[in-house]
Amino acid sequence: MRIDAHAHGIHAELNENNKRIPPIMSSWRNTDITPAEHILQHNERGIEKVLLLDPPEIAFELKKVFGDFVLPCPQIKIDESSPDEVASLLERGACGIKFIAPMRPYGDDSYLPIYEVIRDCRALAVFHTGFLVHEFFDPGGVLARPSWINMNYMRPSELDRINRAFPDLKILIAHFGNPWWDEAWSMIKSNKSIYADMSGGSAYKKSMNMWKEMFAPNGILDTKTVSKLCYGADDSMFSPGYFGYQNFLKFYDDLYEALQLPEEIRRMIDRENVLMLTERK
Ligand SMILES: [Zn+2]
Repeated sequence: MRIDAHAHGIHAELNENNKRIPPIMSSWRNTDITPAEHILQHNERGIEKVLLLDPPEIAFELKKVFGDFVLPCPQIKIDESSPDEVASLLERGACGIKFIAPMRPYGDDSYLPIYEVIRDCRALAVFHTGFLVHEFFDPGGVLARPSWINMNYMRPSELDRINRAFPDLKILIAHFGNPWWDEAWSMIKSNKSIYADMSGGSAYKKSMNMWKEMFAPNGILDTKTVSKLCYGADDSMFSPGYFGYQNFLKFYDDLYEALQLPEEIRRMIDRENVLMLTERK
């Protein structure tokens, strides 16, 4: 069984111009499928639980409905947030905080007090890295920021500075830095507390030869670095009857085969790493 380290359950209606409009809401609808049956349908496909990275109201609402299936890791607007807000989310039961679309580089001094609270609470910091889809976070979008985002602010290398300030802060790089693959690799290779997933629309479309060369250069498996991956899809996991993550199950299976990964490393990637990262101790 796998734990999906990158899941969503957010929804916003489309208007007549095919543009998402507020309010944001959970994608779960009461149909003839119960939450227990929905979980069972995920279990049958090999998914045991999910790390849910949506805004707090959605993350906590779905946690209430789906119980142990959900590890809530709410997404915040870092430029409008504060150490107090983060502390109260962690007190409400969040296992970590998700960062995305900052107005300054992730490693900026002004953000350090927020990371410090997460470190002190032994919680997890998940960072969206690299390219970000248009619309959602753009001015006028449903999660609008004050201005256009700059994807350079979300480079994996920004996390190096955070790691220097807080070496014990547990960090999960989402999307393996797309397209800064080598930067993401360097972060997990060199920094003890940094892990990464290969979720989202790009990593799984790159050549398996590229990944093979990255984790087993010249055919020699880099056990330590590959052991710091986490399974993640970046899909909607709370839409009744929808199970769109098959590509990702296959991608990870193919990667395991290409690298001839031993069983214990597969288990770390599939579930043990994310359990360790989200455990508040
Ligand atoms: Zn995502």
